Amino acid sequence: MGKIIAVANQKGGVGKTTTAVNLAASFAAMEYNTLLVDADPQANSTSGLNLDPKEERKSIYNCMVEDINVSDIIINSEYDYLDIIPSHIDLVGAEIEMIDIEDRETRMLKALEKIKDSYDFIIIDCSPSLGLITVNALTAADSVIVPVQCEFYALEGLDKLLNTVKLIQSRLNPNLLIEGILMTMYDTRLRLSNQVVEEVKKHLNDLVFDVIIPRNIKLSEAPSFGVPVIAHDAVSKGAVCYLNLAQEILTKNNIPVKA
Ligand code: ADP
Ligand code: MG
Repeated sequence: MGKIIAVANQKGGVGKTTTAVNLAASFAAMEYNTLLVDADPQANSTSGLNLDPKEERKSIYNCMVEDINVSDIIINSEYDYLDIIPSHIDLVGAEIEMIDIEDRETRMLKALEKIKDSYDFIIIDCSPSLGLITVNALTAADSVIVPVQCEFYALEGLDKLLNTVKLIQSRLNPNLLIEGILMTMYDTRLRLSNQVVEEVKKHLNDLVFDVIIPRNIKLSEAPSFGVPVIAHDAVSKGAVCYLNLAQEILTKNNIPVKA
């Protein structure tokens, strides 16, 4: 039974896409069957796996708004164990088109349910908003990872996100768990980075992952080559940290290591 993990934060530029792509690639490298769902019209996860987002192809939008079978839109990536449902700028329209349709919050859930058993992990990269597509993602998900950038305003907006999670839990998805808050772009040279981690831990200690993602040039370079960091530089700090994050999630969930 696949575990669906949404990567969400309504703030842009906090490391959602970097986390979604590299966590998915890490699980795949560990031979877990993994599907990456790009649920952001900006389609950065899509181009991060070397697919041209401008190309006409079906996206999760078509499964939510039309009755298209999700297995028909899955694309095999260049990597073993890693598939992707790409995004397309059309997804912008989905928010508006879905306003009037029935069960508008559970469309993604219904689409993904059909293929959940074919994967060990399904990772959803959300857009920087708490709009209807993100609500769909959180309703479909078993858990959510919240990347938080190690910067001065880190905690700002986090309350709003955690409240949204509570709302989804009470109205749409009682089983939604917070997989963890992931501190990203940690800069060892900056005292501020450390202060931010301390501050977030002070408020939300139990929820914060042990693994902290450092600011790492290889992580920011990899998307320009259309590859996950593990394929760009497998021994870089960024690659190792995302593998460690995958391992932390496996351990936390008592998921056995693949033979
Ligand atoms: P989001 O999806 O939340 O908008 P991204 O993952 O796209 O955020 O990250 C924003 C920018 O920061 C991107 O250019 C990305 O390459 C870069 N970035 C993200 N995480 C790191 C990191 N740990 N080290 C260096 N650059 C990073
Ligand atoms: Mg993104």
